[in-house]
Amino acid sequence: MRFIPVAKPNISIAEASAVFQVIKNGWISMGKKVNQFEKNISKFTNVKYVVAMNNGTSTLDALLTALDISKDDEVIVPNLTYISTANVVSYKKAKLVLCDSDRDTFNTTKEKIEKRITKKTKLIIVTDMKGMPVDYDAIKLITKKYKIPIIADSAESLGAKYKNKQVGNQCLAHSFSLFANKNITTGEGGLIVTNNYKLYKKLKIIRNQGQTSRYNHILLGNNYRMTDIQATIGVVQLRKLNKIIKEKNKIANFYNKNLKNLKQIELPFVPNYVSQHAWYNYAIKVSPKIRNKLVKFLAKEGIETRKSFPPIHIQPLYKKKLKNQQKHLIESSNAYNCLIDLPVWYGMKYQDKIKISSSIKKFFKVN
Ligand SMILES: *Cc1c(COP(=O)(O)O)cnc(C)c1O
Repeated sequence: MRFIPVAKPNISIAEASAVFQVIKNGWISMGKKVNQFEKNISKFTNVKYVVAMNNGTSTLDALLTALDISKDDEVIVPNLTYISTANVVSYKKAKLVLCDSDRDTFNTTKEKIEKRITKKTKLIIVTDMKGMPVDYDAIKLITKKYKIPIIADSAESLGAKYKNKQVGNQCLAHSFSLFANKNITTGEGGLIVTNNYKLYKKLKIIRNQGQTSRYNHILLGNNYRMTDIQATIGVVQLRKLNKIIKEKNKIANFYNKNLKNLKQIELPFVPNYVSQHAWYNYAIKVSPKIRNKLVKFLAKEGIETRKSFPPIHIQPLYKKKLKNQQKHLIESSNAYNCLIDLPVWYGMKYQDKIKISSSIKKFFKVN
């Protein structure tokens, strides 16, 4: 039986031979290739400044360092997100304030964020869940009204477009991840894009041990450097990004068309402001009663799926500590019990798509 994974990187001989060249040249840590990769990302996103790092979590942590987040501050973070968005707040010993998500988009909204703002709110982080941009124009009104900066965990949405503009142009800074299951990858890797020159200069210092010149350390940085080996892979990967996203949109359209008559499932909702979805995940919603059953059934058919990330407030790490926030988190709790991510990756065969949709139909015939 053919096994269909839920995600698969598109990596081949082109990346391998580029890496071979770098190794042959002898410079493998941060150098010219990182510079080149940053320039290419700047051109692609149309954002002025780019800082490449060793992973996505580091980029978020570096941003919180740059913005001086510390013990007495509150930071608003979506409840539906990957653990690192929340952890970077804890690293700074700041207070983690969780925000609920919209029932249909799984993203946070202006209204839900506003409910969580207090006098101590120092920063807001939003996440583009599943590769779909949040409603940035609405959310940005918060900065205007309350003078609180917003940064975006766009780990999943490199290449997505909000109102015809590349994601990366909307907030003070956006962070992207280049982990192996993201739309393009460097194995591990991360990027920050910003149009703010001062922030950019500070981030470059933070990335390199807080160093301004050799052995002169002016602030508490870390080693967040990307290697030229990673950057070389990134340069080749970036050339494929549009092709990958186009293909993922085709797969999403296939699912939309083939599953739309099943009344037991809800298909992803894509608002008009999303002019290009990056489809990091394609998630269907089913009743919590059958969610696990369907996952198991598909696994038996050779189809790998994922339940989405559990919300932050039920993670063992945070459960006790954030118990009093639970009442604010209704939609994000519900979403987790209903969501299943279906396979969506470049190179999926037509038979794979047919197999997946017919297996889902088969399940609902007998259940
Ligand atoms: C992947 C991901 C990250 C973390 O990226 P790493 O590169 O694995 O550190 C952060 N936030 C979200 C929403 C992600 O999907």
